[in-house]
Amino acid sequence: MLKKLCFPLASLGICCLFLTIYYWQFVISAPKVIFCDVGQGDATLIIDGFYQVLVDGGRDERVLDCLEKYLPAWDREIDLVIVSHADSDHIGGFEMVLNRYFVKEMLVSEYGTTTGVFKGFRNAVLREIEEGMTLNLAVGNSSKKIGKNISLKNYFTRVRGFSNNPFMSVKTETTLWDKINEQNQIIKDKKLDLNALSIVTFLQLNSTKFLLMGDLDVLREQALVEQGLITDVDILKVGHHGSKTSTSDTFLKASAPEIATISVGYNNSYGLPSPQVVNKIKQFGIRILRTDESGDLVVEVSKNSYATNLD
Ligand SMILES: [Zn+2]
Repeated sequence: MLKKLCFPLASLGICCLFLTIYYWQFVISAPKVIFCDVGQGDATLIIDGFYQVLVDGGRDERVLDCLEKYLPAWDREIDLVIVSHADSDHIGGFEMVLNRYFVKEMLVSEYGTTTGVFKGFRNAVLREIEEGMTLNLAVGNSSKKIGKNISLKNYFTRVRGFSNNPFMSVKTETTLWDKINEQNQIIKDKKLDLNALSIVTFLQLNSTKFLLMGDLDVLREQALVEQGLITDVDILKVGHHGSKTSTSDTFLKASAPEIATISVGYNNSYGLPSPQVVNKIKQFGIRILRTDESGDLVVEVSKNSYATNLD
């Protein structure tokens, strides 16, 4: 009799265990934003129950450590990936992410580069499209809602005079790379670099507001301020890893964050973040949190407030 009961009891026990984990993960746990410590690079993970958004993928496999740490082991699907721009410290980890996870949708800009890292990224994107991913090219400002609580706005300004994109199906690689070279020349002629072409992400999670700047420079920050797109936020991920090419006084006044996060590698060779930028942010009375000093920065959001893992 006891033997007969063993199997159903064990099955029931396993079911209860899974239901508890499920309940904890998706019903009890608060929505959160994780500024992943990926060394010198950017990766920000947004989680609300079943829904996940990843903004940038760092420069290498360290982004996977972050995904594995904060996503349940059985969850191999990411709802949306936003790629701020094509520099290797933002796209280098995506080939591995796309190999391990199915990404439902991706937002990219049309500006590529001729680096090997970009080539690997582009090929991984094309493979993922074949597996069912939707690829959206940023052509201007756009809004999107993921699940009930994740509200996103993306700001992006195109460079006039260019209309090719590196993700279209081009038969010969040489033609494609010629086109990307042409495009890079246009960008150079206009005295821009890829940083200036970053897609900016405004996120509202419950009532907490975040602004993720990619590597956007001061001129484009100014343009967003003048268009009235930069409003009061709670948490700002400062542009370009705290470099002095970003984060102007005007921009800090308009965004007025309580916390500024800086995604930066420990002892990095670029000397980032810039001491001037750090001092400026402090003078504004804004609290600074850095991935090189504190590792992953986690912001948990409740209905009307938020808390960090360093509070
Ligand atoms: Zn960068």
